[in-house]
Amino acid sequence: MNFSQVIGQSKPKALLKSMIDSQRVPHAQLFLSAEGAGGLAMALAFAQYALCDNTRDGEVCNRCVNCIKASKMIHPDIHYSYPTVGSNVVATNFLKEWRQAIEENPYMNLNQWLQKIGAENKQGNINKNECLAIVKKLSLKTFEGKYKILIMWLPEFLGKEGNRLLKLIEEPPENTLFILVAENQELILNTILSRCQIVKINPLQDEEVAQGLVEQKMIGEEEAMKIARLANGDYNEALFLTEHTENDNAKLFLEWFRGCYKGNAKELVELTEKLAKLGRENQKYFMMYSLHFLRELMVLGITGKADSVRLQTTEKETALNMSKVIGFRKVEKISELFNEAIFHVERNANPKILFLNTSIKLHKVLRRN
Ligand SMILES: [Zn+2]
Repeated sequence: MNFSQVIGQSKPKALLKSMIDSQRVPHAQLFLSAEGAGGLAMALAFAQYALCDNTRDGEVCNRCVNCIKASKMIHPDIHYSYPTVGSNVVATNFLKEWRQAIEENPYMNLNQWLQKIGAENKQGNINKNECLAIVKKLSLKTFEGKYKILIMWLPEFLGKEGNRLLKLIEEPPENTLFILVAENQELILNTILSRCQIVKINPLQDEEVAQGLVEQKMIGEEEAMKIARLANGDYNEALFLTEHTENDNAKLFLEWFRGCYKGNAKELVELTEKLAKLGRENQKYFMMYSLHFLRELMVLGITGKADSVRLQTTEKETALNMSKVIGFRKVEKISELFNEAIFHVERNANPKILFLNTSIKLHKVLRRN
């Protein structure tokens, strides 16, 4: 995770970068984040920035060994701690799930995380064993990096066990950084709170949420703004809404795809006109969405499992039907077609000609044996 993947939040980003750049990093910080505002994403980006060998102009290089390991969450100097379920476990028992959860959505909330580790109705906590494990881990020397970093997500769940960490937080070993990512200040032990420097991460602006959806989820600008307004600065909520409300691109894509399959000339011309009216940016997102649909269609074809596919319910049904008639070879041909279309959209091709042409080619591929 790097800072450019963290949505919005230019102020705390600048503050955190300047700490590293000037080598004045407080050894214990508490990122106090509104829900879905990106506290955890920010902590991950901060850790990578702190360890990167070649930061330049406020960006990490994404190429050095520290960047690569940090982004894969396998850096030996970055440790993670988070709520788990059960008294005899430590966070590392769930490291595989943790990496997967972050890869899927670094804006997740506690409930989503607990579902991921199969907690059902049990309460999560950061228990005694975990605190002891942290003390032990942080007493080791750094392996490769300049800093040894502990990212603790939701220290609210430490309870009294948190007192075991006080000495460590107050007098940490050299070059050790604590980053606690919390959402609720009142639930954190005062003894811990008083030892941390607080960095506030406020709810996102609607425009920031919308931009995140456009860039990361290939949603058209208008649609993204509609969702952002409903999400109240919570990007996690926006992602949920995106998956559970009908998306304009999805609707249009299915309409177009069905039209191309049928191949009725009049209908194809009408659809082409509709696509031509979208405007260049939206045409690009539409085509990118189409590629996304194809990718998911392939996953479905390979795994045969509808629940492993990132599509909405209505799209899934269509995808399921399609995967029965469209084989791997056709999917490959179609993605070539779509990539070509994106290439031409970006170069200002005449949209009516481009989409009619693409529609006819698509029809041929779909109907070929
Ligand atoms: Zn780097």
